[in-house]
Amino acid sequence: MRVCALGSGSSGNALLVEGPQGRLLVDAGLPWRELEARAARAGLGLTGLRWVVLTHEHTDHVRGLDPLLRRGIDVAASAGTLRALGIEGTALEPGLEVAGIRVFPFLVPHDARQPVGLRLEADGARIGIATDLGEITAGILSALAPCQTLVLEANHDVSLLLAGPYPWPLKARILGPEGHLANEEAGWAIRTLGNGLRCVLLAHLSAENNRPALALETVARAVDGWGGRLFLTYPERPSVVVGE
Ligand SMILES: [Zn+2]
Ligand SMILES: [Zn+2]
Repeated sequence: MRVCALGSGSSGNALLVEGPQGRLLVDAGLPWRELEARAARAGLGLTGLRWVVLTHEHTDHVRGLDPLLRRGIDVAASAGTLRALGIEGTALEPGLEVAGIRVFPFLVPHDARQPVGLRLEADGARIGIATDLGEITAGILSALAPCQTLVLEANHDVSLLLAGPYPWPLKARILGPEGHLANEEAGWAIRTLGNGLRCVLLAHLSAENNRPALALETVARAVDGWGGRLFLTYPERPSVVVGE
């Protein structure tokens, strides 16, 4: 099972996961032609894409959903997310199987109706996905503990956010327990998860309140001595493809 972030950040999020029996998208925040072009660029393509799993209803995760629905692609999401979007779909239950991948959702603290992170399992491989979360809870750590590969939010640098141009209520929302994860918090989570974790994609970087090099440097410093590999994701192009 392998994963690639086709795009990541507040301008649009979509991950492509290759499973034993096809492909699935996690989130649909990019237009169809971008999904196609970026999947091809990543060397994966969209052939065999039958499912999209949504983490929550915020626009940067669902902006490209309609074209997928028109193509007959099935949607799975939490009952609350389906309700918030006003669409029919499959309610995510632990162990739901799509494309030969078993999907285990877990709740994350974020200001949406019923937002979730995901642990994907296939043939002994486990990929964790946790973006759009205000903090890392004990429940999230235990959901992610078996994962070898992780897509983890590193949204902002706290001092850049505080010094930046956002109005105070927006800064407070991002910093709050239902907002977004800071670089330091991502580093702490990786260090806590330890050496079972082999590879992390840093995701959902803020264009305004973060810098790619700073995110990488801050997280690398926090995980000093950890044996895994760190990679960035990008708003405008696909990341590396990771997993095995
Ligand atoms: Zn988002
Ligand atoms: Zn969100």
